[in-house]
Amino acid sequence: MAAAASIGVSAWCPASGDHHGVHWSEGVIRAGAAKGPTIELPPGAFAVPGLIDGHLHLILGGLGLEMLDLASCTSRAEVERLVRDRHATLDPGRWLIAQGWNEDRWGGEQPTAAWFDGLDGRHVVAWRMDHHACVISRSVMAQLDLSSTPAGGEIVRDGVGAPTGVLREAAAWHIAKPAIPAPGLDARRTALDAAVRHLHALGVTGVGSMEYGADLDVVLAPRRHDLPLRMAVTLLDRDWPLDVTPGVIFEGTDRLWVVGYKSFIDGTLGSRTARMHEPYADEPSTHGLWTELAADGLLRTWAEHVLANSLSPSMHAIGDAALTAALDALERDERKVGRIEHAQTARPEDIARSAGRIISMQPLHKADDAPNAPSRLGASRMDRFFRFRDFANAGARLVFGSDWPIVTCCPIAGMRAAITGIDRAGAVVAPDQSLTPIEAVRAYTIEAAKALRFPDGCGTLQTGAPADITVLDRDPRTADWVHAPPRVLLTIIGGEIVHHAT
Ligand SMILES: [Zn+2]
Repeated sequence: MAAAASIGVSAWCPASGDHHGVHWSEGVIRAGAAKGPTIELPPGAFAVPGLIDGHLHLILGGLGLEMLDLASCTSRAEVERLVRDRHATLDPGRWLIAQGWNEDRWGGEQPTAAWFDGLDGRHVVAWRMDHHACVISRSVMAQLDLSSTPAGGEIVRDGVGAPTGVLREAAAWHIAKPAIPAPGLDARRTALDAAVRHLHALGVTGVGSMEYGADLDVVLAPRRHDLPLRMAVTLLDRDWPLDVTPGVIFEGTDRLWVVGYKSFIDGTLGSRTARMHEPYADEPSTHGLWTELAADGLLRTWAEHVLANSLSPSMHAIGDAALTAALDALERDERKVGRIEHAQTARPEDIARSAGRIISMQPLHKADDAPNAPSRLGASRMDRFFRFRDFANAGARLVFGSDWPIVTCCPIAGMRAAITGIDRAGAVVAPDQSLTPIEAVRAYTIEAAKALRFPDGCGTLQTGAPADITVLDRDPRTADWVHAPPRVLLTIIGGEIVHHAT
């Protein structure tokens, strides 16, 4: 790639408005006359600042690219066929790991271990699309102790009390997961590269990634100077007392940095573990769960400890009571650097309290959760569900991401969900909460860059900014987002073309 180059297309920047043409040299956007070659693009091509996914799990996502994907399956027969095909390609003794199944796509029948019979005793584990449940083969069941159910989990049983092979929540985490061979260092390093290539093709130039300190040390840090993506890491390590190691400050790189620490206040709506102010409509005996530091009454202490170390506390809060707790924990965060992740349900008084705060949401979670939300929340609480518009109007700083590998990390698909309100079943949900294309682009560019402490200028196309650019095949502001959303043509990071659609 030449040190200087230009694109002669229309462009829009959240900081400087409309442009014609963008050019750069030495990785930085320049003013004045263009030097160097012009990259040819089709008519109508349109540049925006490089897209940033504000919340994903990069290494996990990369590992998932190697897993068998069952998301397209609409019948037991299809699941069995894909699993059989993969089995035929694997060496004997290797585990077959799959993900993405969703029983709603075939009428609700739960899978069972019997779906994996006839594979020569191959060990199989298949994660549900939300990674909150899995189904295992009989050969795996035979290895595990399924006699007692851990708190916060479920071992699904048949009519005579025998385990079916499906494990939910804590049972999936604490019984099945430890039995699966952990990917080694080489596999995690390969996963990083695979994830980055996947993101480039989707127009992503930067990410906010949730990672463990061990992977930061051995997988990410060695790549800090040549990582072909900008990466703000939020560490998932959350043992209390929290050790905020100063060694995680990297000098001399604008590709990798640690922005903060993560904690989990509650669970998910789908599994009725998100913490609500009022009970679940379809299970009135529960309000959901407080988890981890929130359950121990340490959330505010933890948040203030992270803030005192000039880092950003990031809190998973899906239920409306969890959101209240997250806002309470940030009461002394005067610089408003704390991040609230998900915020899938919110009371009006908490939306009002979110002014100036970073609310990090995942529009495709709305599309996925909307079909089940009325049963969980009841019709009367649907006005608390995914309040994009209300948060924006209240002055919250909306940052968008995917939570990949839970859903695809395609930012165009995320924007489409936020702009159209279309859910996974094709219904338009709460259109009064939909955003404009400009608001959606801002949440994937300038707002994500600021919230995640990207290098100065990232998220814009201003002179002097790093040349991180995503070129689409049409103007996102006027595109038909229902029928013909934009496509990514070109992804540029620090002036280097990392993806060029053919
Ligand atoms: Zn996540």
